[in-house]
Amino acid sequence: MALADRDTFPRDKLCGEFLSYDALPILEAFGIDLSAAPTIDRCRVVGRRRTYEFDFPHPARGISRMLLDSLLFRHAVACGAQAFEGSTVMDVAADRIVTDRGEIAARVVVGAWGRWGRFDAQLGRAFARDRAHRHFGFKRHYRGPRDPHIIELYSFDRGYLGVSAIERDETNICGLVHASRLAGHKGRWEAFVEQIREEEPQLDAMYGRYTPAQEGFLSSEPVIFRARSAVEGSIFMIGDASGIIDPLTGNGMAMAIQSALVAAPFIARALANGHRRRVEDEYRQEHRAFFGPRVAWSRRVAFLLSRPALLETSLSLARTPAAGQFLLGHTRVERDEVIRLADRWFSIE
Ligand SMILES: Cc1cc2nc3c(=O)[nH]c(=O)nc-3n(C[C@H](O)[C@H](O)[C@H](O)COP(=O)(O)OP(=O)(O)OC[C@H]3O[C@@H](n4cnc5c(N)ncnc54)[C@H](O)[C@@H]3O)c2cc1C
Repeated sequence: MALADRDTFPRDKLCGEFLSYDALPILEAFGIDLSAAPTIDRCRVVGRRRTYEFDFPHPARGISRMLLDSLLFRHAVACGAQAFEGSTVMDVAADRIVTDRGEIAARVVVGAWGRWGRFDAQLGRAFARDRAHRHFGFKRHYRGPRDPHIIELYSFDRGYLGVSAIERDETNICGLVHASRLAGHKGRWEAFVEQIREEEPQLDAMYGRYTPAQEGFLSSEPVIFRARSAVEGSIFMIGDASGIIDPLTGNGMAMAIQSALVAAPFIARALANGHRRRVEDEYRQEHRAFFGPRVAWSRRVAFLLSRPALLETSLSLARTPAAGQFLLGHTRVERDEVIRLADRWFSIE
């Protein structure tokens, strides 16, 4: 197996860095050591006047992408993947990829290039042309007094942000904002954060507790919340390339990891020269059934969280942790189901 990535690891990446509990049984099964990452077992939604808290059914982890992605990449290599690190893929087709260092022939190509890239336009994927649903993310690591076991969520007009602990006593503050708020902003995240601090006193108080641990903000390519197909041009998509869940759920990495395992038996069948068209259709269906409802729920919660006044009203009505736990449960899968996915993977090997 060839594994090509334009980056070299470790490297930083825009992300809330909250690793949901429904990814952990898979990483445990693969022997990935996450012990450096703090456990997070409670969520606090901070509104203008009210806060709302609920417990997770299982602990999650706060882990930087610097550490996690490097662990995953090295693990794949230790398991026999041939690494093409620091190799930008320029072209993809069903039977080959072309990197800036040469061409690699393949019987099956798996697209894991993330939420947005040159291939989405090349493959004619409709979402890549969408301008109405574009969002942008921003993140920075900080130091300051914290309770590492709680993730906090804050709302601002047309956006939201999460505050959660990562390893080395640092805290990640990562947000997402609709493109309509960024006219004339030109990447000046410092000024944007000043603006939302002025609008929302609870955000101002939160930022006031921290000092930056990183030089500047990290931002991202556009985040476009539109459906996409899990197979395109006979390329099996996994992770964000196959579908995006709203970041507020903190479930994108778990979904990416799970999608690789959902895809695995279909890829194995394609490699065994199974009826290719049928295999692709069946993967599309399984992907939709497994992830579709979670993505739909994530959009509903994001609608609420990016409207501070509406959120405040909702918080006044939510008197028990049940509402939070309901929404949490509907944006991820049960632990047993994840364990079944991991078991299925090991039975393919
Ligand atoms: C603001 C924000 C906050 C988020 N917070 C969280 C969170 O707290 N928890 C969570 O679970 N999820 C979160 N997510 C979602 C999460 O970041 C993604 O779901 C996850 O990274 C998807 O993983 P992936 O492997 O599909 O893509 P990526 O992590 O984007 O990886 C894609 C890889 O492909 C490589 N690549 C791309 N193009 C090429 C090319 N042409 N050639 C070679 N290599 C290439 C890149 O270098 C990269 O390493 C957040 C997203 C945003 C936008």
